[in-house]
Amino acid sequence: MSRIAYVNGRYRPHRDALVHMEDRGYQFADGAYEVCEVRAAHIVDERRHMARLTRSLAELRIGLPMPLSALSVVLHETVRRNRVRDGIVYLQVTRGVARRDFAFPAPGTAPSIVVTARAHDSFRTESTAADGIAVITLADNRWARPYIKSVSLLPNVLAKQAARDAGAREAWFVDDQGFVTEGASSNAWIVTARGEVVTRPADGRILNGISRAVVLDAIAARGLSFSERPFTVVEAKAAREAFITATTQIVQPVIRIDGKQVGDGRPGPFATALRREFHRHAEFT
Ligand code: PMP
Repeated sequence: MSRIAYVNGRYRPHRDALVHMEDRGYQFADGAYEVCEVRAAHIVDERRHMARLTRSLAELRIGLPMPLSALSVVLHETVRRNRVRDGIVYLQVTRGVARRDFAFPAPGTAPSIVVTARAHDSFRTESTAADGIAVITLADNRWARPYIKSVSLLPNVLAKQAARDAGAREAWFVDDQGFVTEGASSNAWIVTARGEVVTRPADGRILNGISRAVVLDAIAARGLSFSERPFTVVEAKAAREAFITATTQIVQPVIRIDGKQVGDGRPGPFATALRREFHRHAEFT
């Protein structure tokens, strides 16, 4: 089946789904994006993703290209036209097309919007979760505003490739005090030897993940011992469990950090249970 993308008001086959080369997304990475999970043909946590998109765009002073209600129709229609049951829907908004100049284009320049949807192989993500993943750590060399879900992802791209080159699936960024900030495309968590669940607070040095918020709800519902505080790489390596959260990954157990085994080297019971119950705490539209 041919894939369909929504581009600036029209649904198009992928090969014709083009934006102009002077789009500011292409020239300057001047835009923001969201990725929502699609499960059983429903969008997961759309409301929270759209709230974050609204915040990202406000930070960048880019206008919302259409009301959220219309955007919702486009998201669902793109999912429907691509016949995605389980997968993702991707949305990107940029400052639009204008003659290349660093400063903002003339007021009234329309933001560009692109929406795509694709199925993922649920079996593969499940088998990755059953095996657990390895992560590497590296210095966080991103700009100071990673809480904005900007399409400017070059440090994340390089970090992810460094992970792949090292035979790992994810890279954890580390701040200059030795504390883990987050993954290249995920939030980072540990369960300490004392059984305390720890993740860095949304202190501006991380993207405040939507799946992170869902897991926080799940932890609160279970009444578990929990702390939102930074943790070091040393602490993570000594942890009982480690895991990551992201929309495309849900909860993935981490079994190795920089080659050092975490816990007994197998996916931990807490991460595994969280993964199972995750969608009980999510919203479907
Ligand atoms: N941090 C970064 C840098 C990310 O790119 C992502 C996923 N896009 C996340 C965290 C996780 O966010 P979410 O749970 O909303 O997917």
